[in-house]
Amino acid sequence: MSSSIKMHGQSQVCEKFTRKKHGEQSPQESLHVGTYAIAVLPGDGIGPEVVEQAVRVLQSVGRRFGHTFELTRAMVGVAAIEAEGEAISDATMELCQRSDAILFGAVGGLPRFEGPNSKKQPESALFRLRKELELYANLRPVKPFQALLDASTIKREVLEGTDLLVVRELTGGLYFGKPSEIRETAQGLEAVDTLFYTEAEIARIVRTACELARSRKKKVTSVDKANVLSSSRLWRRVADRVAAEYPDITLEHQLVDSCAMQLIRWPRQFDVVVTENMFGDILTDEASMLAGSLGMLPSASLGTRRTAHGLFGLYEPIHGTAPDITGQDKANPIAAILTAALMLRYSFNLSAEADAIEAAVERAIADGYRTLDLREEGKTTVGTKEMGRIIAEAVER
Ligand code: NAD
Repeated sequence: MSSSIKMHGQSQVCEKFTRKKHGEQSPQESLHVGTYAIAVLPGDGIGPEVVEQAVRVLQSVGRRFGHTFELTRAMVGVAAIEAEGEAISDATMELCQRSDAILFGAVGGLPRFEGPNSKKQPESALFRLRKELELYANLRPVKPFQALLDASTIKREVLEGTDLLVVRELTGGLYFGKPSEIRETAQGLEAVDTLFYTEAEIARIVRTACELARSRKKKVTSVDKANVLSSSRLWRRVADRVAAEYPDITLEHQLVDSCAMQLIRWPRQFDVVVTENMFGDILTDEASMLAGSLGMLPSASLGTRRTAHGLFGLYEPIHGTAPDITGQDKANPIAAILTAALMLRYSFNLSAEADAIEAAVERAIADGYRTLDLREEGKTTVGTKEMGRIIAEAVER
């Protein structure tokens, strides 16, 4: 393996990981060997801890399959506000623009930067990335590992057979609508947020869901609140129209409150779930419990931009910065590691390599290793770094 580290400006560090002896590959491994530029934005809290382990696993993939991953690190979130004055600098945005994919940790967690009227919200880094890179589709697969079915608070017989994909709209809805503010009035404070969607925004995300369903069980559940919200009534109308272009796909509608209940009552009824930004945010945290922990769920944010290797994307675990366990080697790195697998699959078209990561995670779990969030009687509790090491080694075995 060769590795090189370069400094780019104040906050960007570039490392190269590759294995030069391509002839070492076994016949079943990918014959296609490539060089991939990844912007690594670890962020705050447990972000850097879990991203470090995802990078370690990528290095193992590089060694086993002969690929070169050029990793350039930069700051985002609180770290960037403190060092560079804003949650994401223009230089970091440019780095992301010229990369093939982004590996992101999590941002936020310091109360002084929180609140909707704070001008320096760490989360604004994510919103800027999503908006400027037009990453409108957030894919969150939920497929519990067999060996973890008894680790969940939900019964095994409910979990068995669960394999769903939530497609969350990411650049519209309540999180972007204006006005969004707290105002002073003579009667006291008041606040407003705006839930706004255009027909085009709804159509493109429903189309993404239908396309993805084609390589799955061909069923799409569109989730809304059409009994109350105008934006949802438009959503439903557009979803029906778009789904009519896909005669092989079955479309059904569910109200978001009912869907929240169905997700833990009978999750295997779902294949692809498509929904607006905030509903998707909430439903996927709930769905993470099907997989055992928030520390298990990866996500991919995609748009229409293509690189030489495939679709450009931003990859992040769905969890936040977890201030309660930061710096204690307690965070589960599996969501971040599975995030790297999604990157290989969607942005680099390296499915054998993605499978190798998923198999290594499955192996670690089947061998009885658990981080604290998944602690189980009779299993071995390990820290963040140890779990990363076990999975990275399993990738190369
Ligand atoms: P959180 O996801 O950070 O944590 C919720 C709970 O889950 C905590 O008890 C935490 O310890 C646990 N948890 C989360 N990830 C874990 C992991 N990998 N392993 C083990 N346990 C894990 O959500 P929160 O506490 O609501 O938010 C904390 C901060 O994170 C806030 O500032 C929030 O704004 C931010 N946040 C950021 C993102 C993001 O960057 N995409 C997403 C959600 C929340």
